Amino acid sequence: KKITIAIDGYSSTGKSTLAKQLAKYLGYVYVDTGAMYRAITFFAMQNGYIAVDFFDKQSLIDSLSFINLQFKFNADLGFAEMYLNDVNVETEIRTIEVSNFVSKVAEVSQVRAKLVEQQKQMGKDKAIVMDGRDIGTVVFPNAELKIFMTASPETRAERRFDELQSKGQNVPYEAVLKNVQERDYIDTHREDSPLVKAADAIEIDNSHLSREEQFNAVLELVHD
Ligand code: C5P
Repeated sequence: KKITIAIDGYSSTGKSTLAKQLAKYLGYVYVDTGAMYRAITFFAMQNGYIAVDFFDKQSLIDSLSFINLQFKFNADLGFAEMYLNDVNVETEIRTIEVSNFVSKVAEVSQVRAKLVEQQKQMGKDKAIVMDGRDIGTVVFPNAELKIFMTASPETRAERRFDELQSKGQNVPYEAVLKNVQERDYIDTHREDSPLVKAADAIEIDNSHLSREEQFNAVLELVHD
């Protein structure tokens, strides 16, 4: 039986690692909704709607209909990459600059409405693993399996720090931790679809779990 799997949680809890593993194992489609919010943020930066201490929300809202987001599967990498108006932006959307602004862009209701609509379409035929902040609550409230992932801010900052380092981005650990904490705050306090655990989601704190232990635990839930 094909199901919909919704994975939500705080930044850098390893949602996408787990979601990718599950999708690969089950032969499902994986959708990283954070990449979509990041691509819109990158678009706003490119067009000068965002700069240090500046965000021209209205111009971004007015341009939303000109933003086309697509995931294209890269067989060599084994996962889909994000395309913004037909340009691969997979690298550009993972920078600390985008991370620093993305939660402010994700607060804009018009942005959320556009992306939620597209995400619902992508999940129409089930057999999907989608990760984000509002998947179990807003995008797929009827998902058969909902996971809510948590880990301490320090654990998450260490993971994000290592990931940035491995991509040659030398950001101080303190700056990464600050970014993780700020995004937690904005994500849980915004008016439109704040980050909350869905009532029927299963919470997994993976501060002390290996990737393998976590994967096996979730796989058992899939088979239940
Ligand atoms: O998952 P990732 O860290 O890439 O997401 C980047 C940001 O996008 C989050 O901090 C959050 O502000 C926003 N987001 C969201 N809703 C989603 C996915 C991401 O608001 N479904």
